Amino acid sequence: MTTINVLVLGPQGSGKGTQATRISAAHGVPHVSTGDMFRAAIADGTELGRQVEPILVSGELVPDELTIALIRDRLAKDDAAGGFVLDGFPRNAVQAEALDEMLRAIGRPLDAVLFFQLDDETATRRVGSRAHEEGRSDDTPEVMARRLAIYHEQTEPVVERYRAAGTLHTLNAGRSVADVFAEIETALATSPGQLPAVDDGGLSGGSRSSREASP
Ligand code: AMP
Repeated sequence: MTTINVLVLGPQGSGKGTQATRISAAHGVPHVSTGDMFRAAIADGTELGRQVEPILVSGELVPDELTIALIRDRLAKDDAAGGFVLDGFPRNAVQAEALDEMLRAIGRPLDAVLFFQLDDETATRRVGSRAHEEGRSDDTPEVMARRLAIYHEQTEPVVERYRAAGTLHTLNAGRSVADVFAEIETALATSPGQLPAVDDGGLSGGSRSSREASP
């Protein structure tokens, strides 16, 4: 059985969730979204949901211990044995290291790290229209500004780590859903399947920089 382990990174509104759903359907692997898992816990009224609800409403990050434990459990589930599309995690350096260690422990390297590049203005505009359609409590202009600031402070360094390791495939996320998905499918079809861990400086992966697509 072929497995496919994909990571999607990018700001709110970059369409990575939409594309992750498409990749999930096309390749028969679960879409693992920390944001969706937290929102489900809140909707179900679980203990985790009660703990994280005020954090999501404020746009801050849920503590790493909780988030890492959630992902560790999720990736150990049977349906993730054939791969996964990870969306919304890792969001900071601590989580990136934890993911590295988890994947090393189960001998499952990432096949692709897809980076959805989008400017703040377009991201904010898109989230504004999503707020209209979905009514998410964290899609208000104030909370969106905070989430975007956290993205720049904490998640962008994670993007840079994958870039430095030569594992990043940069997508221009300002295009249509169909165009972005077509590029993703090409990238996945040519994926070498054995990307180096982010913390080895790309030394084990040879010259992966050719994978970097210009936006
Ligand atoms: P998202 O749907 O990915 O935008 O996530 C919604 C909210 O869930 C975020 O604003 C955070 O409060 C929380 N969240 C999602 N993923 C993470 C993560 N990896 N680490 C910490 N908090 C997270």
